[in-house]
Amino acid sequence: LGVPGTRDGFAAAVLPYQDPALPVATRVADLMSRMSLDDKLGQMTQAERGSVSTADVTSYRLGSVLSGGGSAPSPNTAASWADMYDRFQNAALATPLGIPILYGADAVHGHNNVYGATIFPHNIGLGATRDPALAQRVGRAVAEEISGTGVDWDFAPCLCVARNDRWGRTYESFGETPDLPSSMATIITGLQGTALNGPASVLATAKHYVGDGGTTGGVDQGDTQLSEADLRAIHLPPFRAAVERGVGSVMISFSSWNGSKLHGHQYLITTVLKGELGFTGFVVSDWNGIDQIDGAAGTSAADVRTAVNAGIDMVMAPTSWRQFIDLLRAEVQAGRVSQARVDDAVRRVLTKKFELGLFEKPLTDRSYTSTVGGSAHRALAREAVAKSQVVLKNSGVLPLAPGGKIFVAGRSADDIGLQSGGWTISWQGSAGAITPGTTILQGIRNAAGSGTTVTYSRDGSGVDGSYKAAIAVVGETPYAEGEGDRPGAMGLDATDLATLSTLRAAGVPVVVVLVSGRPLDIAAQLPGWNALVAAWLPGTEGQGVADVLFGAVKPSGKLPVTWMSSASQQPINDGDGKTPLFPLGFGLTYDGPSGDTTPPTAPGTPSAADVTSSSVRLTWAAATDDVGVTGYDVVRVTGTGESAAATSATAAATVSGLSAGTSYTFAVYARDAAGNRSPRSGTVTVTTRPDGGTGGCSVTATVQSQWSTGYVVQLTVTNTGTT
Ligand code: BGC
Repeated sequence: LGVPGTRDGFAAAVLPYQDPALPVATRVADLMSRMSLDDKLGQMTQAERGSVSTADVTSYRLGSVLSGGGSAPSPNTAASWADMYDRFQNAALATPLGIPILYGADAVHGHNNVYGATIFPHNIGLGATRDPALAQRVGRAVAEEISGTGVDWDFAPCLCVARNDRWGRTYESFGETPDLPSSMATIITGLQGTALNGPASVLATAKHYVGDGGTTGGVDQGDTQLSEADLRAIHLPPFRAAVERGVGSVMISFSSWNGSKLHGHQYLITTVLKGELGFTGFVVSDWNGIDQIDGAAGTSAADVRTAVNAGIDMVMAPTSWRQFIDLLRAEVQAGRVSQARVDDAVRRVLTKKFELGLFEKPLTDRSYTSTVGGSAHRALAREAVAKSQVVLKNSGVLPLAPGGKIFVAGRSADDIGLQSGGWTISWQGSAGAITPGTTILQGIRNAAGSGTTVTYSRDGSGVDGSYKAAIAVVGETPYAEGEGDRPGAMGLDATDLATLSTLRAAGVPVVVVLVSGRPLDIAAQLPGWNALVAAWLPGTEGQGVADVLFGAVKPSGKLPVTWMSSASQQPINDGDGKTPLFPLGFGLTYDGPSGDTTPPTAPGTPSAADVTSSSVRLTWAAATDDVGVTGYDVVRVTGTGESAAATSATAAATVSGLSAGTSYTFAVYARDAAGNRSPRSGTVTVTTRPDGGTGGCSVTATVQSQWSTGYVVQLTVTNTGTT
């Protein structure tokens, strides 16, 4: 086996580690036999892209480069990410052994550092869907976008069990019970695909091990004071689930357990995670996390020694990577870190690189670059947003029917940055049009349709009693990590409260849509609401919020966290018998689609008499980023359920048996060569006059609402008056 130059078809010498036909373990062992200590130290090191040159990657044989939150190339486009990745990767391939790097990034709700990427709801919203299959589909979509930029390693999912809403990372949690993050660990399967070397598979990271969501006071990077039995019962199960799903890496938490830093915790890392749970991937430290071990500032020999001996395999040393390498070399040479420990760490890292197929396909798979922010992913995000909405209160005002006048206000109504939250373009996130998307206001306008007057002002000014309802979109402004800790007040701020009182003063029903990363202390602030919807941090597809408000999607979200009656109840779920405002799992529903399903009756427009034939032709435009799609099916769902034809590129389907003045539901599916169908969203257009003629009337169809089964298409017949 593995004799250079003897394998079928290979004229040039192929070393055993370069031979994809050999088992991974054999390749790893062969490669390691050729590595110097410095080669190995490099593999254990991760530097930040802004603090490392391509020449450094080559000369230090670095194992990994990362983009920290918001760290992006310029211009910040998917294509320039791919170029950057390929530059770093080519630098790694230029080393004597040509070991590829792993490039890591925080794609924690979509590929959120990249301008134009699809931003999905933060985990707390996905937790509200209670839909593990959806989480897996989200993971797959995110993996495609990541792959299109070259990046091969995602620092996600956060499997924290958030036990105190004061914590600034509560929104990164799928929920407060161990089973919620455990069940949503399906996102790992989505990210990693069916095989790590399959198309658009990226390495996932279960983080932050362990107990990050259980700190006293909800303090970020704080101390989790629990018995071992409680730590195991509350915070360990999601990591067990992640290991069972084959997660490739685990990131250590900044926090401590009963006063001991996790970054130096040999028992929890080596004995429990690698031993008891059987984790075979590699353990990465958090950003400068090892520096906190000895309590002194900066990276010390003790930090390095303790971390590596505890079982950390790769150290995220964003700027201090040279120091880390030098200190670790000295510790190994002095025998304080064993060669065996170094070999174990390197073996784990290299195993994942081989499993990912990086030695065979080191450069960006550009066939995925156009999926970044593509329509199929945005449709999935919209679906996830709609399913994540939790209706907490409804005095009957929801669902809103089209028609009449609606007022929209609140600073979160028309702001992609606010609705996306932290970890969007920049680490802390920010307000404004930071990346393309549909704001909640735009979604409301689309859902309300042309027969409804939608008036917007940010602060509510201009509202009066002539509106049938006002929608107030209010909540938190973006934050990440410790910046989001709220040791004090947890309610709406004065700006939002002023907007609400302006709306209430008009005497119209007020629907409050809360855009927030956690429950807020609103019981005393919102005494007379008519409807209240927790929208969480939905991301770029604000249409999904409107889908629920207008009943196009039936609300199904359930609270993934208990909703406090007052901030003083935090932590509310500590078993002290506190009465919440809304219990865990709470969520109302109503039927949809609501309202007007009859066609518009504006003067001169449609009348059944205009329809002289009941057959129409529907077209479906192919999304440019559809990969592997061979055609589209347009299927009539209502009525007889007949199926229609499809073509590739542009689907065209003739459906018959239609009559004017009626709504029909059509499902549009993309189809692959194997006949698998996946739903698509968008606009179905009728291109042919019902009677096949050219004068007299034209027919358009607009998508009114989206259901899991397809789209409600409103056929509008317009008399053009020529015959
Ligand atoms: C966070 C991690 C993140 C890392 C890299 C840290 O500050 O705690 O969750 O993966 O930065 O950006």
